[in-house]
Amino acid sequence: MQADTGTLQKLRQDGIYAYDPSALRNAISCLCMYNYRHEMGLVLKNPKPNYALDFGSSGHKSLEVWENTKRTDSEAIRTFIDMFKSNEEPPGIGKTGKELQATYSTIYGCSLLTAYFNKYRDDRRQIVDVELTLAEELIPGVYLCGRIDKIMKGRLLTFSDYKFTKYPDRHLTLPNLQFLTYDFLVSKLTGEKVSGELDLLGISKTKSPDDILTRVPFEYTNVHRKAWKDSVLYLVDKINKCRENNYWPQSWQCQPYFKDCIYLPLCQAVDEGLRQALVSSMFDVSFWDPFDVVD
Ligand code: SF4
Repeated sequence: MQADTGTLQKLRQDGIYAYDPSALRNAISCLCMYNYRHEMGLVLKNPKPNYALDFGSSGHKSLEVWENTKRTDSEAIRTFIDMFKSNEEPPGIGKTGKELQATYSTIYGCSLLTAYFNKYRDDRRQIVDVELTLAEELIPGVYLCGRIDKIMKGRLLTFSDYKFTKYPDRHLTLPNLQFLTYDFLVSKLTGEKVSGELDLLGISKTKSPDDILTRVPFEYTNVHRKAWKDSVLYLVDKINKCRENNYWPQSWQCQPYFKDCIYLPLCQAVDEGLRQALVSSMFDVSFWDPFDVVD
């Protein structure tokens, strides 16, 4: 079904949790972190700027506007500039004192989007929907949800996902938790066999956007779908058991990509009193909204 944040809140009030791929990935990486983020809703009061996230969100919005305005480049570029300009990464300073070009800049975003528009403008498949938010029941009592960037009708119904990334050659489509979840959501909504497509919008200081724009089509078989479904159900069962026992084990993946997990001070607190004090002083409560983020 098409869903919004209210749908998920209603399900939660009825004791039913809807899981999106980001929440499931957090649970895989550390159940203790999952508890802090998704059960307690803890977010940093003063987070560091996240240029990559802001760049990606603005890029997604621009592509949504592009499709909704019958591919009007100027409107889409204006949307990107309006959203991103105030959040763009400032230039760095090199060892010699020389100014270094920022990675996530407005100018790069505009040239990347323009390259995308020029490359894919003549794709004549029918646009069925953009930024579609869905929630579907996998088995009774287990809901999955997600926001699909675009659905098109060609030979098959195809869902498309945009990735703004510095690592365009490091995106596996098989196996892939996010895309198998989307495959399930779209086929359950429509009753049709679906395929997927990944649009990689590479971010590089050395290569031209035209050289790293890539479109990767993919389709799953029932073998892939069964492996995905069994794994998701196993994971959800683990989360349910943690919730029942109010025990969320640590997994010690505390420096993913060499950055500290934001909950590290809580896991390093020497007693419960200090941990509680840190929760109040460092964090606000804002529950995860899977429909409010891009992935
Ligand atoms: S600091 Fe480590 S153990 Fe604690 S929540 Fe984060 S990843 Fe888990």
